[in-house]
Amino acid sequence: MALIVQKYGGTSVGTPERIETVAEKVIGWRGRGHQMVVVVSAMSGETDRLIGLAKGITPRPHPRELDVLLATGEQVTIALLCIALEKRGCPARSYTGSQVRIITDNAFNKARIQAIEAAAMQADLDAGRIVVVAGFQGVDEDGNITTLGRGGSDTTGVALAAALKADECQIYTDVDGVYTTDPRVVSEARRLDRITFEEMLEMASAGSKVLQIRSVEFAGKHNVPLRVLSSFQDGPGTLITFEEALEAEQMEKALISGIAFNRDEAKLTVLGVPDRPGIAYSILGPVSDANIEVDMIIQNIGRDGTTDFTFTIHRNDYDRTLEILRELATRLGAREVSGDPKIAKLSLVGIGMRSHAGVASKMFQTLAKENINIRMISTSEIKISVVVDEKYLELGVRALHEAFELDKAA
Ligand code: ADP
Ligand code: ASP
Ligand code: MG
Repeated sequence: MALIVQKYGGTSVGTPERIETVAEKVIGWRGRGHQMVVVVSAMSGETDRLIGLAKGITPRPHPRELDVLLATGEQVTIALLCIALEKRGCPARSYTGSQVRIITDNAFNKARIQAIEAAAMQADLDAGRIVVVAGFQGVDEDGNITTLGRGGSDTTGVALAAALKADECQIYTDVDGVYTTDPRVVSEARRLDRITFEEMLEMASAGSKVLQIRSVEFAGKHNVPLRVLSSFQDGPGTLITFEEALEAEQMEKALISGIAFNRDEAKLTVLGVPDRPGIAYSILGPVSDANIEVDMIIQNIGRDGTTDFTFTIHRNDYDRTLEILRELATRLGAREVSGDPKIAKLSLVGIGMRSHAGVASKMFQTLAKENINIRMISTSEIKISVVVDEKYLELGVRALHEAFELDKAA
């Protein structure tokens, strides 16, 4: 007997019929003798709909109240799934995040899980019940409802698996695994049987939304065995692996495992800022104080006592960051603030890069052939990211997928 945590995404619970299909699937697993914990997302489109309602009232809804609103999406699906399970004579119990006591910090809209009380869920499991938990939500120490950021149900799944010491965490979604790139953009994309945890972390952080980055971080920290599978067809899916041996073996083979991209980025530049110690902090401090996450950062070599400072952020934060920078520019004596909200980032990811030179030049050559101008570049040990104009994103991804022959098995 194993303890399995399964997470079903929005499309998988998108209609009452699909919820009934999930119920059947879960009952099947239980019938094979497993203890089952099921995490569900809101029905597909529901979280966007709720955000739309709030934004119809004001572009910047109060963060605490927005979380109260957004958490309702998942409350609907836990109840419907339990109703479907009970109808089939299968004892089940639903839990909101606060009923479990998934304790988070109080960063509304992007809260982090700090602790989970497992005792009540464990008692239900031991009594033969299926435990159904609302994804994407928790509660802070003062009892406020919080949410974990878009895609956060993945993190709920992994965090519950860690807290309950589950044998496996299975993420069921609308594709049958992790692909070399988003199969909706490149039809030749290939499903990977396995991907290393490190690569998955880079893919997720570079924009592959198949897993929320925090879920991968959590899995890494707590060694949670993680698999991505399809809700709609049977198959092995993709295993996120921790095996060093596999890494070594793969290094000889695939140079690149995948291409990730993110079209939700925006770029801002502070021009002609005095080139003196502390300048990066003076610019990024206030941005970070406003809870805005900065991605790539470039500071030019100074000339004539001034320098230019460029960084990227999520496009949703563009207007606010521009406001902050304009105010700062006056105070710091900078010449000008400029920005571009229509940029995109594409990244090559692969542990094979560690031991091979020439990946970057092949990437730049491929993009040059397509006449795609690179606006920013950043690298890590196993990733190369470039920023390009948004309109070139798909062309760039397809060209790179072909150039690195990702459609062919390594
Ligand atoms: P869910 O609602 O189940 O959480 P998501 O929409 O969050 O589903 O994530 C699944 C989607 O991730 C897929 O439909 C696919 O378009 C996208 N995706 C992006 N990159 C990849 C990738 N490398 N492999 C598989 N899917 C990817
Ligand atoms: N419903 C939330 C979202 O749409 C969380 C999730 O689906 O993972 O982002
Ligand atoms: Mg998701």
